[in-house]
Amino acid sequence: MNIKVNPSRSIVYLAVAAVTVMLFISLYVGITGWRTPIKAQRESYRLGTIVRITLYGDDSEKLNDALDLSMEEIERLENLLSVNIPSSDISLVNRASGKYPVKVSEETGFLLEKALGWSERTEGAFDPTVGKIVKLWGIGTESAAIPSPEQLKQAVELTNFRKVFVVHKAEGTFVQTAKGQRIDLGGIAKGYVTDKVRDLLINEGVSSALIDLGGNIAVFGSSPKPGKWKLGLQHPFMPRGEYFGIAEVSDVSVVTSGPYERYFESGGVRYHHIFNPATGYPAQSDLASVTIISEESTDADALSTALFVMGFERGIALLRELKNIEAVLVTKKPEGTIVCVTKGLSEAFILKDPDMKIEPAAR
Ligand code: FAD
Ligand code: MG
Repeated sequence: MNIKVNPSRSIVYLAVAAVTVMLFISLYVGITGWRTPIKAQRESYRLGTIVRITLYGDDSEKLNDALDLSMEEIERLENLLSVNIPSSDISLVNRASGKYPVKVSEETGFLLEKALGWSERTEGAFDPTVGKIVKLWGIGTESAAIPSPEQLKQAVELTNFRKVFVVHKAEGTFVQTAKGQRIDLGGIAKGYVTDKVRDLLINEGVSSALIDLGGNIAVFGSSPKPGKWKLGLQHPFMPRGEYFGIAEVSDVSVVTSGPYERYFESGGVRYHHIFNPATGYPAQSDLASVTIISEESTDADALSTALFVMGFERGIALLRELKNIEAVLVTKKPEGTIVCVTKGLSEAFILKDPDMKIEPAAR
């Protein structure tokens, strides 16, 4: 049988089919709100690390404006909080130690009070007055070296968060430290900056973002891929970018601390940058890494550093007392590497390294 189709009629059929498909797509998009989001990303070297902000939305110009504002915000906060910038609030406080109270911005006062609160809660495992110890070791700088026991003894004596006072007066916020003390917010300020950038982006109407300040991560809004955000947790024994597990999360911050981030080696020994304030030496922890997941990155940052110093037993005991804080602790045990995951996270954490064993944390 020979069927002949009128060519002009087939064009009409095709056009009708195309219009129908288009109608279905726009109806689907209309009902579900689904469309491929536009991605906008910015990367820069800030806070002594690489910061990368990724936004998703439907208005490229708006996303790029929000990225500009985020980078300006990071620079503004770095100028306020960095121990390396002579005009920062923290440098002014450090230069006036033991002399007079220094007027600081409300934000510096707030963050310092937060840091002191975590110092109290962790019985000094976290201590923002660790600055003298940090400077002596110089880890991450070209002059990294093992200090003498005498130097360390003096630095440990100056490390005492109880000698820092934040006073709120009608004229503003003032900070006073004891003679010779040196504040260093390296263990908490990246978290604070992460929270501030998140707040700024939400205020700017951004609906979906991944903020990564050198491993201090926060996500909000829906992930560009189906389901929740899937965040890889840095493997403590593998190169950067290799993950031992994945956390499936939304609207939280994920912060990891470990001895593999910054260190130097001397005489076959590795000296890392998370110090035990009581000894002045890099913390001898039975933990290989600590990941904290919480709503506020400031808390996650302070706690990841603190729990590394506290070690497994004390760390778990503290986690039991804290609400809305989840953790993944990697421990080195004689039987191998064990990954402990708090209850609230057991569904959301997926172990990827077959050589590690997972164990629910007793919490
Ligand atoms: P974390 O575990 O979160 O913190 C470790 C850091 O906390 C240490 O480096 C030390 O600073 C401090 N610390 C150590 N032990 C304790 C303790 N027991 N209690 C409390 N704190 C402790 N790095 C540069 O090389 N150049 C820079 O110009 C520079 N500028 C910075 C500016 C700002 C505002 C901030 C926040 C950091 C800056 N850094 C800079 C530091 C750098 O990014 C650090 O590596 C980072 O802060 C440490 O973060 P972490 O996630 O690796 O480790
Ligand atoms: Mg920290």
